[in-house]
Order: sequence, then structure tokens, then C-alpha cells
Amino acid sequence: MPATSYPVRPEVLAFEPYSPGLSIAEIQSRYGLDTVIKMASNENPLGVSPYVQKVIADHAGFAFRYAQSGNPRLVGALADYYGIPAAHIVPGNGSDEIIDLLLRVCPSPGLHNVVACKPSFSMYRIQSRLCGVEFRSVALREDFSFDWQGLLAAVDERTALVFLTTPDNPSGWCPSLAETEDFARSLPQHCLLVLDEAYADFCREQGRSLLPRFREFSNLVFLRTFSKSFGLAGLRLGYGIMPEALANSMRAAHMPFSVNILAEAAGIAALEDGAFLEATLRTVSEGRERLSEGLTSLGCRVHPSEANFIMFRPPATCAKDAAGIFQDLLERGLIIRPLKSYGLPEHLRVSVGTGEENERFLSLMREILA
Ligand SMILES: *Cc1c(COP(=O)(O)O)cnc(C)c1O
Repeated sequence: MPATSYPVRPEVLAFEPYSPGLSIAEIQSRYGLDTVIKMASNENPLGVSPYVQKVIADHAGFAFRYAQSGNPRLVGALADYYGIPAAHIVPGNGSDEIIDLLLRVCPSPGLHNVVACKPSFSMYRIQSRLCGVEFRSVALREDFSFDWQGLLAAVDERTALVFLTTPDNPSGWCPSLAETEDFARSLPQHCLLVLDEAYADFCREQGRSLLPRFREFSNLVFLRTFSKSFGLAGLRLGYGIMPEALANSMRAAHMPFSVNILAEAAGIAALEDGAFLEATLRTVSEGRERLSEGLTSLGCRVHPSEANFIMFRPPATCAKDAAGIFQDLLERGLIIRPLKSYGLPEHLRVSVGTGEENERFLSLMREILA
């Protein structure tokens, strides 16, 4: 190949391409399997609500239209759902887009920095680097709780954003409301605290989010998504709830049509389908108990989880390491998530599935660990 002369930013040249692993079709043909179960990406075990599917089908004929810029119908539905004025809500193409937008709107490259935990959701780090913004990470404590003092020590007068995932991914740990509130109040006023609540619906007690009290704070941003509890990961729909002035800046910098009309219609319908959400939460809560108990009885070290997944460590006595167990499950048609990319090569993460999927996973684990 001839040498190229076009510019590519050095930050980007240093990136490792994302490796998505084998697709379901590739796993089927490589290992000669009829069915493959995926418990790797924390998707909704019940799939898409039948009511939402119908609404998506009903809107198919409008796909030639641009969505209304700013998605006012969706924003209005979210405002009603939470009892929060629409001026605070910014929808995006997944909450990933809101993370990206916050990093492009708030910190100035080369001047400000961003703080998060290590490990944490890779998007915070990747998008910070892409924006040329310094990314500081503070190790979690031994028990996977947040090192509040360490986080505060990493914050300085040039910290624009602190990202926390509550409940956390991949551990499932969730701080108490009092801890989060103390931390929010300890941060300097110039620093925004971004609470990524992708998994908040799955918490045992709903009182763990500051969202109902967001008016008491001037430096909080909440991220929520339709990808997990509402079962719409593939449609890409999330939103941020934030101070009004920041929401105005975000809207001004936003790509005008990033939330498409099918995602918008589906999101509004999903908010109306309370029965589906309730069934999802019941399935996840029962499955989480069953998986914890089953893995514990197989000798695994299970971390308590407030989310729709469980992080665990295979028994030390087992001849196979986490990577070997992941591979054995894959060859038997069940995909879970190895955590090497999170810097946790000895841990695995499994998403809660349907009752049947959970039993299949546990019986394969019994076979592999025997
Ligand atoms: C799944 C997940 C999200 C959701 O991302 P979308 O872009 O809305 O699909 C956000 N944050 C964390 C930590 C997640 O695990």
C-alpha cells in the first residue's frame, strides 16, 4: 500500500479497534449448534414488549420522514413520566450519545479533565480520549465499592465531569443514597457529577436514585436508557436529565435527527406499557436470586448485584480459569461476558436471562466445573 498523507489524530492512532467477538451465526456454524443463548450484554430477557412491537410496525410507513428536531413528543412523555420539566431532558441515540455530547460540550481539550472509576464503562474513557480531554481514573476498592476519598482527591479546579455508574457495571454494586448525596455535595460547584443510571430500575429499593430530588442540586446529570429495562437496545434510545442551561447547550450542539422516528414512537409506547416493565423487573429479580444461589452452590464467588447481571469468580479449586469457562460455555452455545477488557481477567459477568436460560446456564456450569 502506498504511504498515506492524510492526517489522523494521534489519539485515534493509539486506539485499539473494538473486538465484538463472534456473532451468533458464526458460533452456530463453527460449533455446529442449532441454538445459541446470549447472556452477555445485559439486554432485556423478555425481549421487546408486544405492545411496543405493534407501535413500531404502525409507524413503519413514516420512516421516509425526518423526526421532529428535539423529539418534543418523546421529551414530553418523559417529562410526564418523571414529573420533571421538559427543559431539563435531552434525548439521544442511546445514552452513549449523551455521554459523547457531554464530553464535547463541557470540557475544553487540553484544559479540563474528567474523572471516573477504574474499571468503569469504557465509553467514558474512549470518548474523553477522542475529544482530547485528560481522563483520570480512580481504582475501585477491593470490594468493588467506590473510593469516595480517592475520587475527591482526583478532582481539581480543572475537572469538568465526574462519571459514576449506579448501580455499577460490571460489579452490580450500588452506593446508598446518602453516600451519593454526600459525594455530590462535596464536589466543587464547577464540577458536574454524571450519574449513569442505566440499571437503576433493577435496584431492590427504588430509593437509591437522587433523580426524584434533582431540583435540590445544581451540578447533577442523570443518564437513563431504553436499552435495558425497556428492551430497546437495538433501536438506540437514551436521555440525559440535567440543569436547564446545560440542556440548552446540549441541544444547540446536538445532531438534529439522531433519535429516529421509530425509536421515538417505541420509547413513548414503552413508557405506557407499565405491565411489561413490571414483568421485566420480576423476571430479573427472580433470575438474579436463582443465579446467585446456583453459582454460590457451585463454589463460585458471587458479588451482590443491584442490576440485571451478576459478576462472579469461578472457584479457585477449578482446573479451568475464567477464560476457559467462557470458551467452554461458548462451545456449548451460551455466550457470557469475560471481563478481561475491564482489567478483571479472573471474573465473568452473566446477564440474567429467562427462567429457562438461567437453568441452562447453571446446568452447563455444573457440567464444566465438575
Ligand atoms: C448499557 C449501558 C448504557 C446504555 O447505553 P445505550 O447507549 O443507552 O445503549 C449506559 N451506561 C452503562 C454503564 C451501560 O452498561
